[in-house]
Amino acid sequence: MITTNNCSDKITVIGGGLSGPVLALYLARRGFSVDVFEKRPDLRNASVPAGRSINLALSKRGITALEEIGVFDRIKPSLIPMHGRRIHDLNGDTRFLPYSSSGTDFIYSVSRSDLNKILITEAENTDKVRFHFQHECIGVDIIRGAVTFLKKDTGEKIKWKNFPVIGTDGAGSVVRKFLSEDGFVSDALDPLNHAYKELNIPPDERGQFILDSNALHIWPRDEFMLIALPNLDKSFTVTLFLPELGKISFETIQSGNDLLIFFKKMFPDVISIIPELVTDFFKNPTGKLGTIQCSPWHAKDKAVLIGDAAHAIVPFFGQGMNASFEDCTIFNRWMDSTENWGELFQKFSNVRKFDTDAIGELALENYIEMRGLVNQNIFFKKKELERELEMTYPNRFISRYSMVSFHQIPYSIVKARGIIQEKILSTFSSSSSSVSMKNYKEIEEMIFEELPSLDQL
Ligand SMILES: Cc1cc2nc3c(=O)[nH]c(=O)nc-3n(C[C@H](O)[C@H](O)[C@H](O)COP(=O)(O)OP(=O)(O)OC[C@H]3O[C@@H](n4cnc5c(N)ncnc54)[C@H](O)[C@@H]3O)c2cc1C
Repeated sequence: MITTNNCSDKITVIGGGLSGPVLALYLARRGFSVDVFEKRPDLRNASVPAGRSINLALSKRGITALEEIGVFDRIKPSLIPMHGRRIHDLNGDTRFLPYSSSGTDFIYSVSRSDLNKILITEAENTDKVRFHFQHECIGVDIIRGAVTFLKKDTGEKIKWKNFPVIGTDGAGSVVRKFLSEDGFVSDALDPLNHAYKELNIPPDERGQFILDSNALHIWPRDEFMLIALPNLDKSFTVTLFLPELGKISFETIQSGNDLLIFFKKMFPDVISIIPELVTDFFKNPTGKLGTIQCSPWHAKDKAVLIGDAAHAIVPFFGQGMNASFEDCTIFNRWMDSTENWGELFQKFSNVRKFDTDAIGELALENYIEMRGLVNQNIFFKKKELERELEMTYPNRFISRYSMVSFHQIPYSIVKARGIIQEKILSTFSSSSSSVSMKNYKEIEEMIFEELPSLDQL
């Protein structure tokens, strides 16, 4: 077991976003002193920059971490339950797809900045975690044992010697960059070539939600889509996902007129409820999307990467933050079964990566499902059969969405079981015929043969 008695008890965390404070809280509960360096000013006294995933879907894996560090009850009043997806057709019709067959499982919409602020305050309240805001990491030298920070308010440079260092500095991690330059890790970005833009649906004139507030709204249009998540102030944050280049893309929308023509054609029911469409589209940044491939995630017993810094993924399963929080849960758990930082970092890097690779692939696949398949009849047929099988074999057949969002089955197992389940659903759902009794016998045999009961996992 790693304790403050047998290992260095002063930990340096670089990145005070979502996973940095969660990890700091886990470490503080074990008695470690943690210094968290964050390049931005303290969020609690600053306004949040617009246009960067203002709200997020929080599900089981993230909730578990927040419960374990004692923060879930603090954030709970700020959460908005989303019980399913509401699909908006081109002609304005909508259809509701519940997230779970039983109707009891749901995900939450949470404000990134509210969650971040609560995490920082709770970490500080332990008296074991110190935050250094406006400290930008500009160098990590494993060989000489020094990290360099630039104090952004004074321009002063600071050398810091407390190791180990944990890089929670997000998708564009500089910790990863320095470890890569020194040959400890190799990393690459797989760009999605689709980008995103955030917009806003304000409340109606009575200050109420304009759309159903307990759903994640999707306007799927095959090559691109719009989604909307509810906010506490009764507005919705809308995200347009669109190719960067090509016939219909960010490249071709150059003027307010281009944008209005595009929205009138593809999202006619939305145009009147986004009053600042043109202004926000051209004012808000266009966010890039991609998957970070990195291996290993550590440099000896000196540094390790956690969260997006190690494995940023595309956002279509709503799992980037949830997976990053689960990283912290697992890292904390494995402190009990390893003897020193080097052993823990190696195990974390070798074993956890199977699961984060899997969710990275599932998230890419889900983009195709969300923007395209939700429009097709066969998709709804499969969903019906899936619901029936979930009700009949609750311990064996669990939809891929549920396995990811409402369970903590390792992502690599979710991926493998998802392939088997998809085979069953594709074989037995067809847009024209319903499933016969004979089919049910075959399905049952396949389920019992190929999908071990959850208790056996
Ligand atoms: C459009 C979009 C929608 C998303 N939706 C969801 C969702 O619904 N559900 C979900 O689970 N996930 C979602 N995600 C993913 C989620 O945002 C990330 O997975 C999560 O923020 C990762 O947390 P992190 O702490 O690793 O990184 P971050 O939250 O990015 O934090 C990194 C921190 O490091 C700081 N930093 C960076 N460089 C330095 C430096 N040199 N020195 C010091 N500090 C530094 C940054 O300022 C930042 O505070 C979404 C992402 C996007 C882009």
